Amino acid sequence: MKTIYLDNNATTAISPDVLNEMLPYLKDLYGNPSSGHSFGRNLYYIIEQAREKVAYLIGAEPEEIIFTSCGTESDNTAIASAIQSDENKRHIITTQVEHPAILNYVKHLERKGYTSTYLPVDGAGKLNIDAFMNTLDDDTAIVSIMVANNETGVIFPIAEIGAMCRERGILFHTDAVQAAGKVPMDVQKLGVDMLSISGHKLHAPKGIGVLYVRKGSKYFPYFIGGHQEYGHRAGTENLTSIVALGKACELALENIAYEHTSIAGLRDLLELNLKNKCSDIFINGYDSERLSNTSNISFSHVDSEALLHRLDTYGICASAGSACSSGSSEPSHVLRAMGVPDDAIHGSIRFSLSRYTTVEEVNTVIEILPGIINKLRAGSLVGSVQS
Ligand code: PLP
Repeated sequence: MKTIYLDNNATTAISPDVLNEMLPYLKDLYGNPSSGHSFGRNLYYIIEQAREKVAYLIGAEPEEIIFTSCGTESDNTAIASAIQSDENKRHIITTQVEHPAILNYVKHLERKGYTSTYLPVDGAGKLNIDAFMNTLDDDTAIVSIMVANNETGVIFPIAEIGAMCRERGILFHTDAVQAAGKVPMDVQKLGVDMLSISGHKLHAPKGIGVLYVRKGSKYFPYFIGGHQEYGHRAGTENLTSIVALGKACELALENIAYEHTSIAGLRDLLELNLKNKCSDIFINGYDSERLSNTSNISFSHVDSEALLHRLDTYGICASAGSACSSGSSEPSHVLRAMGVPDDAIHGSIRFSLSRYTTVEEVNTVIEILPGIINKLRAGSLVGSVQS
Protein backbone atom coordinates (compact mmCIF):
# COMPACT_ATOMS: atom_id res chain seq x y z
CA MET A 1 0.00 0.00 0.00
CA LYS A 2 1.33 3.41 -0.97
CA THR A 3 1.52 6.00 1.78
CA ILE A 4 -0.40 9.21 1.16
CA TYR A 5 1.42 11.62 3.42
CA LEU A 6 -0.76 14.61 4.30
CA ASP A 7 0.85 15.49 7.61
CA ASN A 8 3.49 17.94 6.46
CA ASN A 9 2.94 20.38 9.32
CA ALA A 10 4.19 17.58 11.60
CA THR A 11 7.28 16.99 9.48
CA THR A 12 8.29 16.89 5.83
CA ALA A 13 10.22 14.52 3.59
CA ILE A 14 13.83 15.52 2.99
CA SER A 15 14.06 16.83 -0.56
CA PRO A 16 16.28 14.65 -2.81
CA ASP A 17 18.36 17.72 -3.71
CA VAL A 18 18.84 18.48 -0.03
CA LEU A 19 19.87 14.88 0.65
CA ASN A 20 22.45 14.98 -2.16
CA GLU A 21 23.90 18.15 -0.73
CA MET A 22 24.23 16.50 2.70
CA LEU A 23 25.95 13.26 1.67
CA PRO A 24 29.60 14.47 1.37
CA TYR A 25 29.42 15.80 4.93
CA LEU A 26 28.09 12.48 6.24
CA LYS A 27 30.90 10.59 4.53
CA ASP A 28 34.22 12.23 3.80
CA LEU A 29 33.95 15.82 5.02
CA TYR A 30 33.44 15.08 8.68
CA GLY A 31 35.85 17.63 10.14
CA ASN A 32 35.14 20.06 12.93
CA PRO A 33 34.78 23.61 11.57
CA SER A 34 36.57 24.96 14.67
CA SER A 35 39.72 22.91 14.04
CA GLY A 36 42.99 24.63 13.23
CA HIS A 37 43.81 22.33 10.30
CA SER A 38 42.41 23.00 6.86
CA PHE A 39 40.41 19.72 6.75
CA GLY A 40 38.21 21.11 9.49
CA ARG A 41 38.67 24.82 8.99
CA ASN A 42 37.50 24.75 5.35
CA LEU A 43 34.11 23.59 6.58
CA TYR A 44 33.67 26.89 8.36
CA TYR A 45 33.17 28.50 4.93
CA ILE A 46 30.55 25.89 4.06
CA ILE A 47 28.58 26.96 7.12
CA GLU A 48 28.85 30.59 6.08
CA GLN A 49 27.47 29.75 2.63
CA ALA A 50 24.48 28.03 4.21
CA ARG A 51 24.00 30.99 6.54
CA GLU A 52 23.79 33.30 3.52
CA LYS A 53 21.11 31.13 1.91
CA VAL A 54 18.98 31.09 5.06
CA ALA A 55 19.39 34.84 5.47
CA TYR A 56 18.33 35.39 1.88
CA LEU A 57 15.03 33.55 2.41
CA ILE A 58 13.94 36.05 5.07
CA GLY A 59 15.69 39.23 3.94
CA ALA A 60 18.22 39.14 6.80
CA GLU A 61 21.97 39.66 6.99
CA PRO A 62 23.97 36.42 7.34
CA GLU A 63 25.41 37.49 10.70
CA GLU A 64 21.84 37.78 12.03
CA ILE A 65 21.31 34.02 11.57
CA ILE A 66 22.03 31.68 14.50
CA PHE A 67 21.82 27.94 13.87
CA THR A 68 20.05 26.02 16.65
CA SER A 69 18.88 22.43 17.09
CA CYS A 70 15.17 22.97 16.37
CA GLY A 71 12.24 25.35 16.40
CA THR A 72 11.65 24.70 20.09
CA GLU A 73 15.18 25.77 20.99
CA SER A 74 14.81 28.92 18.88
CA ASP A 75 11.50 29.80 20.53
CA ASN A 76 12.79 29.18 24.07
CA THR A 77 15.99 31.09 23.34
CA ALA A 78 14.13 34.16 22.05
CA ILE A 79 12.11 34.50 25.25
CA ALA A 80 14.96 33.58 27.57
CA SER A 81 17.16 36.18 25.88
CA ALA A 82 14.52 38.89 26.21
CA ILE A 83 13.96 38.40 29.92
CA GLN A 84 17.69 38.46 30.56
CA SER A 85 18.15 41.60 28.46
CA ASP A 86 16.21 43.66 30.94
CA GLU A 87 15.65 41.95 34.23
CA ASN A 88 13.18 44.62 35.38
CA LYS A 89 10.68 43.69 32.68
CA ARG A 90 8.64 40.68 33.71
CA HIS A 91 5.59 40.59 31.44
CA ILE A 92 5.36 38.34 28.36
CA ILE A 93 2.65 38.71 25.74
CA THR A 94 1.72 35.86 23.46
CA THR A 95 -1.45 34.26 22.08
CA GLN A 96 -3.69 31.44 23.21
CA VAL A 97 -2.94 29.53 20.02
CA GLU A 98 0.87 29.36 20.00
CA HIS A 99 2.76 26.10 19.76
CA PRO A 100 3.67 24.42 23.10
CA ALA A 101 7.28 25.50 22.42
CA ILE A 102 6.10 28.99 23.41
CA LEU A 103 3.09 28.28 25.63
CA ASN A 104 4.78 25.79 27.93
CA TYR A 105 7.90 27.93 28.21
CA VAL A 106 5.82 30.94 29.22
CA LYS A 107 3.97 28.76 31.76
CA HIS A 108 7.35 27.67 33.12
CA LEU A 109 8.30 31.34 33.54
CA GLU A 110 5.00 32.09 35.31
CA ARG A 111 6.07 29.59 37.96
CA LYS A 112 9.17 31.74 38.44
CA GLY A 113 7.08 34.87 38.99
CA TYR A 114 6.77 36.32 35.49
CA THR A 115 3.38 37.55 34.35
CA SER A 116 1.83 36.80 30.99
CA THR A 117 -1.00 37.72 28.67
CA TYR A 118 -2.45 35.21 26.23
CA LEU A 119 -4.26 37.09 23.48
CA PRO A 120 -7.53 35.50 22.38
CA VAL A 121 -8.62 34.82 18.79
CA ASP A 122 -12.08 34.98 17.25
CA GLY A 123 -14.05 32.18 15.59
CA ALA A 124 -12.07 32.59 12.37
CA GLY A 125 -8.79 32.34 14.27
CA LYS A 126 -8.02 36.06 13.91
CA LEU A 127 -6.35 38.23 16.56
CA ASN A 128 -7.99 41.38 17.83
CA ILE A 129 -5.30 44.01 17.19
CA ASP A 130 -6.95 46.70 19.36
CA ALA A 131 -7.01 44.31 22.29
CA PHE A 132 -3.35 43.62 21.63
CA MET A 133 -2.46 47.33 21.79
CA ASN A 134 -4.07 47.58 25.23
CA THR A 135 -1.93 44.79 26.67
CA LEU A 136 1.42 46.48 25.91
CA ASP A 137 2.88 48.11 29.01
CA ASP A 138 6.21 49.33 30.35
CA ASP A 139 6.75 45.99 32.04
CA THR A 140 6.54 44.03 28.75
CA ALA A 141 9.80 42.18 28.09
CA ILE A 142 8.76 40.55 24.83
CA VAL A 143 5.83 39.91 22.53
CA SER A 144 5.88 36.50 20.83
CA ILE A 145 3.26 35.88 18.16
CA MET A 146 3.46 33.23 15.46
CA VAL A 147 3.32 33.98 11.72
CA ALA A 148 1.03 31.06 10.93
CA ASN A 149 -0.78 28.59 13.12
CA ASN A 150 0.35 24.98 12.87
CA GLU A 151 -3.14 23.53 13.33
CA THR A 152 -5.28 25.80 11.16
CA GLY A 153 -2.73 27.60 8.98
CA VAL A 154 -4.28 30.97 9.93
CA ILE A 155 -1.80 33.79 9.29
CA PHE A 156 -1.45 36.68 11.75
CA PRO A 157 -0.75 40.32 10.74
CA ILE A 158 2.87 40.28 11.87
CA ALA A 159 3.93 43.52 10.11
CA GLU A 160 1.13 45.42 11.86
CA ILE A 161 2.05 43.96 15.24
CA GLY A 162 5.75 44.59 14.56
CA ALA A 163 5.08 48.28 13.88
CA MET A 164 3.21 48.62 17.18
CA CYS A 165 5.99 46.94 19.14
CA ARG A 166 8.60 49.09 17.45
CA GLU A 167 6.71 52.26 18.29
CA ARG A 168 6.73 51.23 21.96
CA GLY A 169 10.33 49.94 21.89
CA ILE A 170 9.20 46.43 22.86
CA LEU A 171 11.05 43.33 21.64
CA PHE A 172 9.06 41.29 19.16
CA HIS A 173 9.64 37.62 18.35
CA THR A 174 7.72 35.60 15.80
CA ASP A 175 7.55 31.83 15.45
CA ALA A 176 7.80 31.34 11.69
CA VAL A 177 8.27 27.58 11.94
CA GLN A 178 5.19 26.77 9.82
CA ALA A 179 5.43 29.78 7.51
CA ALA A 180 9.10 29.88 6.48
CA GLY A 181 9.44 28.78 2.88
CA LYS A 182 5.65 28.75 2.39
CA VAL A 183 4.94 32.48 2.36
CA PRO A 184 7.35 35.23 1.27
CA MET A 185 8.94 36.78 4.34
CA ASP A 186 11.10 39.82 4.88
CA VAL A 187 12.24 40.59 8.41
CA GLN A 188 12.52 44.29 7.57
CA LYS A 189 8.89 44.51 6.47
CA LEU A 190 7.72 42.34 9.36
CA GLY A 191 9.52 44.55 11.87
CA VAL A 192 10.54 41.59 14.02
CA ASP A 193 13.56 41.47 16.32
CA MET A 194 13.69 37.69 16.41
CA LEU A 195 12.25 34.91 14.26
CA SER A 196 12.31 31.11 14.57
CA ILE A 197 12.61 28.53 11.79
CA SER A 198 12.75 24.73 11.92
CA GLY A 199 14.44 22.69 9.18
CA HIS A 200 12.19 19.65 9.22
CA LYS A 201 9.14 21.70 8.25
CA LEU A 202 10.68 22.74 4.93
CA HIS A 203 12.21 19.55 3.55
CA ALA A 204 15.47 19.61 5.53
CA PRO A 205 16.16 17.03 8.27
CA LYS A 206 15.03 17.09 11.87
CA GLY A 207 17.42 18.55 14.43
CA ILE A 208 18.24 21.87 12.83
CA GLY A 209 16.67 25.26 13.44
CA VAL A 210 17.40 28.94 13.15
CA LEU A 211 16.94 31.96 15.33
CA TYR A 212 17.17 35.24 13.47
CA VAL A 213 18.27 38.07 15.79
CA ARG A 214 18.22 41.63 14.45
CA LYS A 215 21.62 43.32 14.43
CA GLY A 216 21.92 45.62 17.43
CA SER A 217 19.31 43.75 19.49
CA LYS A 218 20.40 42.79 22.96
CA TYR A 219 20.93 39.03 22.93
CA PHE A 220 21.82 36.49 25.60
CA PRO A 221 22.79 32.98 24.49
CA TYR A 222 20.88 30.01 25.84
CA PHE A 223 23.75 27.56 25.38
CA ILE A 224 26.95 28.71 27.02
CA GLY A 225 30.26 27.10 26.06
CA GLY A 226 32.50 27.41 23.01
CA HIS A 227 32.67 30.32 20.63
CA GLN A 228 30.59 28.76 17.82
CA GLU A 229 27.95 30.85 16.03
CA TYR A 230 29.86 34.04 16.86
CA GLY A 231 29.43 33.21 20.54
CA HIS A 232 25.64 33.21 20.17
CA ARG A 233 25.06 29.48 20.50
CA ALA A 234 27.74 27.16 21.84
CA GLY A 235 28.17 23.57 20.67
CA THR A 236 29.91 21.97 17.70
CA GLU A 237 27.90 22.86 14.63
CA ASN A 238 25.56 20.30 13.08
CA LEU A 239 27.35 20.82 9.80
CA THR A 240 25.41 18.32 7.66
CA SER A 241 22.08 19.68 8.74
CA ILE A 242 23.20 23.28 8.39
CA VAL A 243 24.18 22.56 4.79
CA ALA A 244 20.82 20.85 4.31
CA LEU A 245 18.88 23.78 5.68
CA GLY A 246 20.79 26.19 3.45
CA LYS A 247 19.84 24.13 0.40
CA ALA A 248 16.23 23.74 1.58
CA CYS A 249 15.90 27.52 1.98
CA GLU A 250 17.38 28.08 -1.49
CA LEU A 251 14.88 25.65 -3.03
CA ALA A 252 11.97 27.10 -1.06
CA LEU A 253 12.75 30.60 -2.29
CA GLU A 254 13.09 29.45 -5.91
CA ASN A 255 9.70 27.75 -5.84
CA ILE A 256 7.68 29.78 -3.36
CA ALA A 257 5.26 31.46 -5.78
CA TYR A 258 4.61 28.37 -7.87
CA GLU A 259 4.21 26.10 -4.87
CA HIS A 260 1.87 28.51 -3.13
CA THR A 261 -0.51 28.39 -6.10
CA SER A 262 -0.23 24.72 -6.89
CA ILE A 263 -0.60 23.55 -3.29
CA ALA A 264 -3.52 25.94 -2.69
CA GLY A 265 -5.19 24.39 -5.74
CA LEU A 266 -4.93 20.91 -4.24
CA ARG A 267 -6.15 22.10 -0.85
CA ASP A 268 -9.15 23.80 -2.48
CA LEU A 269 -9.91 20.65 -4.47
CA LEU A 270 -9.92 18.65 -1.25
CA GLU A 271 -12.06 21.11 0.70
CA LEU A 272 -14.59 21.74 -2.06
CA ASN A 273 -15.18 18.05 -2.70
CA LEU A 274 -15.41 17.11 0.96
CA LYS A 275 -17.91 19.93 1.51
CA ASN A 276 -19.98 18.61 -1.39
CA LYS A 277 -19.83 14.99 -0.30
CA CYS A 278 -20.08 15.22 3.51
CA SER A 279 -22.78 16.92 5.56
CA ASP A 280 -22.05 18.76 8.81
CA ILE A 281 -18.48 19.67 8.13
CA PHE A 282 -16.74 22.93 8.90
CA ILE A 283 -13.36 24.21 7.75
CA ASN A 284 -11.62 25.95 10.62
CA GLY A 285 -10.05 29.29 9.70
CA TYR A 286 -11.69 29.23 6.25
CA ASP A 287 -12.54 32.96 6.38
CA SER A 288 -9.02 33.99 7.33
CA GLU A 289 -5.83 34.29 5.35
CA ARG A 290 -4.33 30.81 5.63
CA LEU A 291 -1.24 28.86 4.64
CA SER A 292 -1.95 27.28 1.29
CA ASN A 293 -1.05 23.80 2.52
CA THR A 294 -3.19 23.50 5.65
CA SER A 295 -6.77 22.35 5.97
CA ASN A 296 -8.30 21.80 9.38
CA ILE A 297 -11.71 20.20 9.08
CA SER A 298 -14.30 19.47 11.77
CA PHE A 299 -16.62 16.54 11.07
CA SER A 300 -19.47 16.73 13.56
CA HIS A 301 -20.52 13.51 15.36
CA VAL A 302 -17.25 11.75 14.49
CA ASP A 303 -14.35 10.80 16.74
CA SER A 304 -11.16 12.10 15.13
CA GLU A 305 -9.03 9.28 16.55
CA ALA A 306 -11.33 6.70 14.98
CA LEU A 307 -11.28 8.63 11.71
CA LEU A 308 -7.50 8.89 11.66
CA HIS A 309 -7.24 5.20 12.43
CA ARG A 310 -9.50 4.32 9.47
CA LEU A 311 -7.56 6.65 7.17
CA ASP A 312 -4.35 5.02 8.37
CA THR A 313 -5.63 1.62 7.23
CA TYR A 314 -5.73 3.10 3.71
CA GLY A 315 -2.21 4.51 4.09
CA ILE A 316 -3.50 8.07 4.51
CA CYS A 317 -1.57 10.09 7.11
CA ALA A 318 -3.27 13.11 8.68
CA SER A 319 -3.42 14.28 12.25
CA ALA A 320 -5.64 15.61 15.00
CA GLY A 321 -4.19 18.91 16.12
CA SER A 322 -0.43 19.20 16.34
CA ALA A 323 1.80 16.13 16.38
CA CYS A 324 3.03 17.16 19.81
CA SER A 325 -0.44 16.98 21.33
CA SER A 326 -1.94 14.15 19.31
CA GLY A 327 -1.73 10.95 21.27
CA SER A 328 -2.94 12.87 24.28
CA SER A 329 -6.69 13.00 24.77
CA GLU A 330 -6.58 16.78 25.36
CA PRO A 331 -8.75 18.63 22.86
CA SER A 332 -6.93 21.11 20.64
CA HIS A 333 -6.19 24.36 22.51
CA VAL A 334 -6.28 26.19 19.18
CA LEU A 335 -9.79 25.11 18.24
CA ARG A 336 -10.92 25.66 21.81
CA ALA A 337 -9.60 29.25 21.67
CA MET A 338 -11.56 29.72 18.43
CA GLY A 339 -14.73 28.66 20.21
CA VAL A 340 -15.27 25.55 18.07
CA PRO A 341 -18.00 23.49 19.78
CA ASP A 342 -16.83 20.41 21.68
CA ASP A 343 -18.44 17.91 19.32
CA ALA A 344 -16.72 19.53 16.34
CA ILE A 345 -13.35 19.74 18.13
CA HIS A 346 -13.46 16.01 18.82
CA GLY A 347 -14.11 15.37 15.13
CA SER A 348 -11.41 17.66 13.75
CA ILE A 349 -8.49 16.56 11.67
CA ARG A 350 -5.71 18.40 9.92
CA PHE A 351 -4.51 17.68 6.42
CA SER A 352 -1.23 19.40 5.56
CA LEU A 353 0.06 19.17 2.01
CA SER A 354 3.49 19.73 0.48
CA ARG A 355 5.20 20.19 -2.86
CA TYR A 356 5.18 16.39 -3.14
CA THR A 357 1.41 16.00 -2.78
CA THR A 358 -0.24 14.87 -6.03
CA VAL A 359 -3.72 15.36 -7.43
CA GLU A 360 -4.13 11.57 -7.47
CA GLU A 361 -3.47 11.44 -3.73
CA VAL A 362 -6.00 14.16 -3.03
CA ASN A 363 -8.56 12.40 -5.23
CA THR A 364 -8.01 9.17 -3.31
CA VAL A 365 -8.82 10.96 -0.06
CA ILE A 366 -11.91 12.52 -1.64
CA GLU A 367 -13.02 9.05 -2.74
CA ILE A 368 -12.40 7.26 0.55
CA LEU A 369 -13.11 9.74 3.32
CA PRO A 370 -16.88 10.39 2.87
CA GLY A 371 -17.61 6.65 3.14
CA ILE A 372 -15.65 6.43 6.39
CA ILE A 373 -17.49 9.45 7.79
CA ASN A 374 -20.87 7.91 6.95
CA LYS A 375 -19.95 4.63 8.58
CA LEU A 376 -18.54 6.30 11.70
CA ARG A 377 -21.69 8.39 12.03
CA ALA A 378 -23.86 5.33 11.57
CA GLY A 379 -21.92 3.73 14.42
CA SER A 380 -20.79 0.77 12.35
CA LEU A 381 -17.11 1.54 12.96
CA VAL A 382 -17.42 2.32 16.66
CA GLY A 383 -14.61 0.67 18.58
CA SER A 384 -12.39 0.45 15.53
CA VAL A 385 -9.68 2.46 17.25
CA GLN A 386 -8.77 -0.59 19.30
CA SER A 387 -8.86 -3.00 16.35
N1 PLP B 1 6.50 26.18 16.42
C1 PLP B 1 5.56 25.70 15.59
C2 PLP B 1 4.51 26.63 15.06
C3 PLP B 1 5.55 24.35 15.24
O1 PLP B 1 4.59 23.89 14.42
C4 PLP B 1 6.55 23.50 15.76
C5 PLP B 1 6.55 22.07 15.45
O2 PLP B 1 5.54 21.50 15.10
C6 PLP B 1 7.53 24.06 16.60
C7 PLP B 1 7.47 25.39 16.91
C8 PLP B 1 8.62 23.22 17.17
O3 PLP B 1 9.58 22.94 16.18
P1 PLP B 1 10.59 21.72 16.37
O4 PLP B 1 9.83 20.47 16.12
O5 PLP B 1 11.65 21.94 15.35
O6 PLP B 1 11.12 21.82 17.75
